[in-house]
Amino acid sequence: MGDIRTSNLGYPRIGEKREWKKALEAFWSKKIDEPQLLANLKEQRLIGLKKQKEAGIDYIPVGDFTFYDHVLDHAVMFGLIPKRFQESYQNHTLTGYFDIARGNDAAPASEMTKWFNTNYHYIVPEWEGQTPKLQYNKPLEAYQEAQNELGITGKPVLIGPFTFLKLSKGYEQTDFSKHLESLLPLYVEVLQQLEQAGCEWVQIDEPSLVTSISEQEIDLVSSTYHYLNERTSINVMVQTYFDAVSHYEKVIQLPVAGIGLDFVHGKDENLSSLQKHGFPSNKVLGAGIIDGRNIWRANLSVVESSFSEILSVSPTANIWLQPSSSLLHVPVTKKAEHNLDELVQIALAFADEKLQELVNLRDFFTGNETIKSSQQAENDQISTIIQNSTWRKQDEQVTHTYYQERQTAFSVRQQLQAKKFQLPPLPTTTIGSFPQTKEVRRNRNLWRKGELTNEAYETFVNEQIEKWVHIQEDLGIDVLVHGEFERNDMVEYFGEKLAGFVFTKGGWVQSYGSRCVKPPVIFGDVKFVGEMTVKETKYAQSLTAKPVKGMLTGPVTILNWSFVRDDIPRKDVALQIAEALIHEVQALEAAGIEMIQVDEPAIREGLPLKEKDWDTYLNWAVEAFRISTAQVKETTQIHTHMCYSDFRTIINSISALDADVISIETSRSAGDIISTFETKAYDKGIGLGVYDIHSPRVPSVEEMEKVINRALEVLPKELFWVNPDCGLKTRGEEETVAALKHMVQAAEHARETIGSSQKV
Ligand code: GLN
Ligand code: ZN
Repeated sequence: MGDIRTSNLGYPRIGEKREWKKALEAFWSKKIDEPQLLANLKEQRLIGLKKQKEAGIDYIPVGDFTFYDHVLDHAVMFGLIPKRFQESYQNHTLTGYFDIARGNDAAPASEMTKWFNTNYHYIVPEWEGQTPKLQYNKPLEAYQEAQNELGITGKPVLIGPFTFLKLSKGYEQTDFSKHLESLLPLYVEVLQQLEQAGCEWVQIDEPSLVTSISEQEIDLVSSTYHYLNERTSINVMVQTYFDAVSHYEKVIQLPVAGIGLDFVHGKDENLSSLQKHGFPSNKVLGAGIIDGRNIWRANLSVVESSFSEILSVSPTANIWLQPSSSLLHVPVTKKAEHNLDELVQIALAFADEKLQELVNLRDFFTGNETIKSSQQAENDQISTIIQNSTWRKQDEQVTHTYYQERQTAFSVRQQLQAKKFQLPPLPTTTIGSFPQTKEVRRNRNLWRKGELTNEAYETFVNEQIEKWVHIQEDLGIDVLVHGEFERNDMVEYFGEKLAGFVFTKGGWVQSYGSRCVKPPVIFGDVKFVGEMTVKETKYAQSLTAKPVKGMLTGPVTILNWSFVRDDIPRKDVALQIAEALIHEVQALEAAGIEMIQVDEPAIREGLPLKEKDWDTYLNWAVEAFRISTAQVKETTQIHTHMCYSDFRTIINSISALDADVISIETSRSAGDIISTFETKAYDKGIGLGVYDIHSPRVPSVEEMEKVINRALEVLPKELFWVNPDCGLKTRGEEETVAALKHMVQAAEHARETIGSSQKV
């Protein structure tokens, strides 16, 4: 056996108690100044490094920390500042940096999109003809800080040039290699400076190598690393994750010191490539054997068998035991989880526990028999507890005989629904939530703590509903919502009311910027227990003659935004959730609600990274959605909503959901989706988001009109709806009302325009 070490790929930045988030938000709201922010964030950064050191990790990542997003950090480091932010960036670097991510009064924020198949969102770098130039060396600063403050010889982490460019926008495909070449001298500069500082290893992340890339592209990757290798002699670990690499043979031949592979997500394919083509004995193999995407302890026998397969191919290889990806995607520590069922508690491993697992595994694989047998015994004990649990009943297998077809085709439903609802052309609506003000959150917290009675809380929620029904009516919105004031989070709310879920106390993960989510844990059979949304929706409907949309989170989103057991197929869980949701849909219908929105914002992020695996996923995702929505009257209008992903490639599946109306986010990606409809017809109701809801900025009527008019060039006016990009829960009340007022005016202007064009 060669040398076995432990290495980590990235550590959560948010802190045990989300100190990172709190510091950022305090700075944005001017409660703390810049020096205070810098001090707070530095403290968090060092805590993370120290924990990794104390856990005994041999190669500790540095430079993975960020003030907002690590992709944005690279863009800024390379001088790729969008033109519209150049002034603010120059005047005040930190404010300018946040402006790119969040927008300012003068300019809309950069696009934000999901990081591969995760719920982490990155800021998309914009190429606008700038010549990339190294502005500062972030990895070097991080390396020196870790060295000086904690005596840690860190392993700086960089996003590789190929992946960085792949994730950027604003250039023609034909210019790809030209831009790649323009970045390489910058990477050389970064690496040479690190080398001079005494740094031995860097981790260069190239997750794009696990996507379906062409021969030509892998050859570009190869020349990229040749270029770097000819100019620096630092040890480079090319790190991949989230799936097996495409072009394995070429990847292992890259002129670098190590290759990191994911042996959890993409395990079978990576292992079989390894068996078939071997692994170069002069390279370190980064073996991702602990799941960086899930919260469960590793199953020792599974890990052991992967490890022995690797060893059988490369008996003398130097191996780094690693998480399968950065631990950014899991919560920090399970220290605070005292209130969980003992079984769940035992089964959990968050970031800190995973580091410990890695070190234990290293000792297990290299250690003496005593260590081996004690760890084995512990593992057996846990497996027994899990197997004997009554959490999931073995006899209740998922059957696939649910109702999946609407009674009539869309064209028929469309006529019936048009007659029934009598909506104006280009009807206006919103996505569901209205501002979750301090007051709303304070009341919910009081009620949760038992300091507010059920009746008082219900009265409070009803007051909010009433207030916003009136606001919507005054604004002249056509299809209303109740506002989701009773919900903390769109998945947690349903999880708490369905059977099969458990909730952690501190299981937060970063979603975008300072925003964190606390995914529920699906541990048992998911079942409908009782009505979840009927009371509030019915109340809202009782206050108005206009239709109120019922508002549910869809099965695929509930699945993708939860932590799910890894010993049960995801499809089975999705179908179970779908079956539970149809009960709620029908309950809403029975209560007189005639429009029901089933949100699926996470459907796209569950899409496998390789095209060959897409159909399998999409088939069951569509099946799950249809199970939860098909069994309704033909006049009941089913809506769905999606956002912040690239939907262009899955339009056919979106259409196959057979929802009567979909609302899709548009503005944050500068209308990219609109151009899709130039070539692909969409034949059901569709609302493209006419303004970005992530910015406090109130867009003008003209701006929104432009989006509408542009969309109407490619979408039929009979099918078109006008709505914001997403829910408004993170916005203030004043700006929400102002923006919606402009939205309604924009729709009215557009109606006049289509009216006049009809006369011609
Ligand atoms: N109905 C939800 C809301 O308005 C949808 C949120 C989302 O798409 N993420 O908040
Ligand atoms: Zn949304």
